[in-house]
Amino acid sequence: MKLLVLPGDGIGPEITKAACQVLDAISSKFDLGFKIVRRDIGLEAYRQVRSTLPADVMEEIIETELIILGPTDTYAYPAESEGGIMPSKAIRTALDLYANIRPSRTRKGVPAMASKMDLVLIRENTEGFYADRNMFMGGGEFMPTPEVALSVRKITKKGSQRIAKVAFDFAEKKGKKVTIVHKANVLKLTDGLFLREAYEVGNAYPDVKIEEVIVDAMAALLVRQPESFEVVLTTNMFGDILSDQCAELSGGLGFGPSLNAGDDHAIAQAAHGSAPDIAGQNIANPTALILSAQMLLDWVARRRDDAHLMQAATYMERAIDQVISQPQTQTKDVGGPLGTKAFGEAVAEVIKNMKE
Ligand code: NAD
Repeated sequence: MKLLVLPGDGIGPEITKAACQVLDAISSKFDLGFKIVRRDIGLEAYRQVRSTLPADVMEEIIETELIILGPTDTYAYPAESEGGIMPSKAIRTALDLYANIRPSRTRKGVPAMASKMDLVLIRENTEGFYADRNMFMGGGEFMPTPEVALSVRKITKKGSQRIAKVAFDFAEKKGKKVTIVHKANVLKLTDGLFLREAYEVGNAYPDVKIEEVIVDAMAALLVRQPESFEVVLTTNMFGDILSDQCAELSGGLGFGPSLNAGDDHAIAQAAHGSAPDIAGQNIANPTALILSAQMLLDWVARRRDDAHLMQAATYMERAIDQVISQPQTQTKDVGGPLGTKAFGEAVAEVIKNMKE
């Protein structure tokens, strides 16, 4: 089984290496035959071929089922006309990865601001205020005069319906409540449409309770009572912001996994960015990316109805939980002694010694 790994920028090469150690271990343990192939994207690719997403790598992405995408330092990229292609935008658009699935839960032994939380945030991934990807042609931001800048927010019936379906399908399996987060009190047309379609989809799930919360109140409620949310459904930018808040409440950005999924493809990519402030120091926490890879295995296993692969994914999460629960095997961001590489080795070692 081919696994395409795109290390990306900043801490990307370090955390993808740690994730590969873990994937190698799970592959050996469960005889999965993973063949890991690395390709450069981002600033390293730009240095080599003047493109942050070379065309041959993009072709390989489209043809590959299992992909691990490291974070990219898009803020530092040159203009698109000079080769600075945003990988997240290009890949999510090309593969129509419309659902961004971001779970956050408190984990035994991990110091967290929330005393208890276990939610999954379902974020629409292709529309909203994301000016670089919400238009068929051209961008959603423009300046009619040097003193006026405008940004267009796109919400569609189809986009709202399909992301709502992902959320309600989740709620049928995990928990029994969907919280729709919006700002329809101000964005009456766009969020009004999103809300209407979310209810329409939700009405077909009689066992799932629906509640709605306005996004600013949600920011406060997540701090006050994070344990009261199960599945959170929201639009692109609200989801981007709230999911970082959720990750931070549950232990830090190093614990925020994320899966970008469509109908036919999914890509593992941690919720955090390239963390240039700590890059190259072997201190980044690779947990978020390892958990994202675990989510990808689980996603593929369910699609293929492959019980063996599903079991491998379950073991992988169990191994991560075991390692992060012990202070002596935690990473530096939560006060532990381990560097990025040693953490990957510790999880791989636990997998090696696990009883099936
Ligand atoms: P960031 O998420 O990279 O970092 C924010 C803070 O969290 C930093 O202090 C960083 O050191 C810390 N942090 C992040 N991940 C960590 C980890 N795994 N372990 C320990 N600490 C971690 O956000 P930023 O600094 O605002 O953005 C840096 C770059 O990343 C920008 O170019 C931004 O556009 C890009 N970005 C990319 C993605 C992505 O590729 N999916 C997501 C967000 C931001």
